[in-house]
Amino acid sequence: MCLICIDFDRGSLKLREAKRALGEMRTTLDQQHLKEVEQKLADAERTQQRDSNP
Ligand SMILES: [Zn+2]
Repeated sequence: MCLICIDFDRGSLKLREAKRALGEMRTTLDQQHLKEVEQKLADAERTQQRDSNP
């Protein structure tokens, strides 16, 4: 877990903000967790798109 996960799961970070934060922090995250966060955000994006475009 990193700050992005914590804040995103808590809902205090919007998807767009989380993506920007990931861009800023990706060099400080380890490769394994970077993949996990990218996956998490990609899933959230898919869910949002599905919800807005049924
Ligand atoms: Zn994390």
